[in-house]
Amino acid sequence: MANKKKGSLSINSENIFPIIKKWLYSDHDIFVREVVSNACDAVTKLRKLALIGEYEEAEDTKYRIDVIASPKDKTLTFIDNGIGMTADEVNEYINQIAFSGASDFLEKYKDKATDDQIIGHFGLGFYSTFMVADKVTINTLSYKEDAEPVFWECDGGTDYTMSKGDRDVHGTEITLYLNEDSYEFANEYRVKEVLEKYCSFMPEEIFFTNADEAKEEKTDVVDSTASEVKEGEETTDAETTEEPKEKPINDTHPLWTKHPNDCTEEEYKEFYRKTFLDFKEPLFWIHLNMDYPFNLKGILYFPKLNTEYDTLEGKIKLYNNQVFIADNIKEVIPEFLLLLKGVIDCPDLPLNVSRSALQNDGFVKKISDYITKKVADKLSGMCKTDRENYEKYWDDLSPFIKFGCLKDDKFEDKMKDFILYKNIDGKYLTLSDYLEAGKEKYENTVFYTDNEQTQSQYINMFREQGIDAVVLDHNIDNPFITHQEAKHEGVHFARIDSDITNTFKEEVSEDELKETTEKLSETFKKALDNDKLEVKVEKLKNASISSMITLPEETRRMQDMMKIYAMGGMDPNLFGGDSLTLVLNANNNLVQYILNNPDGDKTNMVCEQLYDLALLAHAPLKPEAMTKFVARSNEILGLITQ
Ligand code: ADP
Repeated sequence: MANKKKGSLSINSENIFPIIKKWLYSDHDIFVREVVSNACDAVTKLRKLALIGEYEEAEDTKYRIDVIASPKDKTLTFIDNGIGMTADEVNEYINQIAFSGASDFLEKYKDKATDDQIIGHFGLGFYSTFMVADKVTINTLSYKEDAEPVFWECDGGTDYTMSKGDRDVHGTEITLYLNEDSYEFANEYRVKEVLEKYCSFMPEEIFFTNADEAKEEKTDVVDSTASEVKEGEETTDAETTEEPKEKPINDTHPLWTKHPNDCTEEEYKEFYRKTFLDFKEPLFWIHLNMDYPFNLKGILYFPKLNTEYDTLEGKIKLYNNQVFIADNIKEVIPEFLLLLKGVIDCPDLPLNVSRSALQNDGFVKKISDYITKKVADKLSGMCKTDRENYEKYWDDLSPFIKFGCLKDDKFEDKMKDFILYKNIDGKYLTLSDYLEAGKEKYENTVFYTDNEQTQSQYINMFREQGIDAVVLDHNIDNPFITHQEAKHEGVHFARIDSDITNTFKEEVSEDELKETTEKLSETFKKALDNDKLEVKVEKLKNASISSMITLPEETRRMQDMMKIYAMGGMDPNLFGGDSLTLVLNANNNLVQYILNNPDGDKTNMVCEQLYDLALLAHAPLKPEAMTKFVARSNEILGLITQ
């Protein structure tokens, strides 16, 4: 190697490598993306040159990228048969250009070692290999006629050597000699995992080989052939020389790159299963396909919720020309859309700026608005033209849509007329449908239940009187209700047990019930040993109802909020705990019994039971109260059989 060339990398900063090493501590695996996407670019470029007649490719050319790990040697090698580089190009692209922006970069960001995801986009891509390698070599041969192979080597200092290489096929071979902390990247499973993360949809075929195993297999083949021959069995050439069919680790034409008209329903579902490992079928999807004014493709899936309690956890994978960038980048994808599952590929994204800059980037905002608009259009369109399915999906869609309305005014504007409310008979209504139907009975009040089981007594009462109520039983409904009230002036939401509306009562004068109330109040206070008990007596039309608990809507909401925000140890019932009102129905036999027998020997028992029954319909009993309730119920049953 007479013409060996030594040089110093043109970096202004003395020691960029320690900084690079430190930089992406949490994202060490990113070098795989950088190196493999360079390899893809190299292959794609050569393909294009061949296409326009600038390069004549050999007839049997099969473009490919190989990733070869050797756990024994602790090396990782990337080979492509793309355009390769001449010595001049190595000089320009590797020795110089990579660092043209580096000193600025270092100056700006040296104190922000946690600001990740930016290294690849400062032309430092290739150098990210030094996060995991002590030494890196490049063996490359340009596709150009009469090009000489080049061998480049650098051990992570600022010095490199360049000499004549031995590569005889156009393309580039990059070998990483892993440092002690990064041996994991020679492990087959780890490498495959990282390849899957970043390279699953890269546009050129990528193959993985475990170099050590490949060597062993070769020895095996020789051995087995020898033994077979020894046993005198016939072997055909085909059997011994046929290689197992290789399968690339990536899908070079992911579904989102196709035109929506060319994709089948099964393909969308298959892509969903494979990409998100979710075997529940998505409800439906939106295929984004835009060329102008920016380039954006992607598929957004609406996942099916498991149960009403399912936490919503979506995943939006962001790609740049089929190269994975990151999951769930809030700056580009509106927060509420992160509840969906999907892929977005946007080659125009200015990813060469930090995340905080992305946030304030007008272009990024446009992208984000476009996605939001598309989603709202799809949903509202469905409500208008395919109401049946919209209703069918509503329970799954509603948390997402409501969250969107809370988070995004524009989305809400587009969706506000397409928000449905399921009523207690399972019908889906809009807010105005509901209010219009009950104009006379409950002007501008929306009665709702948040638990159809515990509130069934109230629901029945509503049904009997022909008053409608809606079911709002998701976590999101609490803030959503408050939000709706702010949006629709005069409209008020009230849980069905928050008050007894006039429709349920007989009309009586206050005086008529005054005495009864005083008497019953005294008896109950004594029986329950609770001086503060608030008792109200009504004549309910339905005589079978004995007792109920009401809690003013505002107080209950406050309590609910306290439950969410209360730091451990604070009893949410402390606030407004005294606002419970025991409503007794003067038309009910048991209540009459108490009224007429304030000192009867069963009176205490009946009072306690009526109180517990009312509480039960409001909220679950505390364990101690529940034990007493069960014992008392048994005692009462015992009385019947006496
Ligand atoms: P970037 O990819 O952002 O330009 P890199 O440091 O990763 O920065 O690479 C610098 C340049 O080196 C590339 O733009 C390309 O011209 C050249 N290069 C890197 N890898 C290869 C490769 N496998 N084949 C051919 N050229 C390459």
